[in-house]
Amino acid sequence: MEYEVRAEYAEEAPARSDQPRVETWHMTKADETQALCGQKLDPAARTLPVTAWGTSEVDPFCRVCGAQYLRQGV
Ligand SMILES: [Zn+2]
Repeated sequence: MEYEVRAEYAEEAPARSDQPRVETWHMTKADETQALCGQKLDPAARTLPVTAWGTSEVDPFCRVCGAQYLRQGV
């Protein structure tokens, strides 16, 4: 199973639309937009390779997604 990291953006309109503020990073299965925690994410949201997980680049990271991801045993 392939995974990737996907951004959830803040609700309010971003001050600079080219750099929307990331509220939380979530983990999804590759090519899916629903996070492991159940959160629906924007198909156009920024994604990062799963190797970014655990780095400061994806902070803050969804705790539920992190726990689910660990449970996959990957
Ligand atoms: Zn999540």
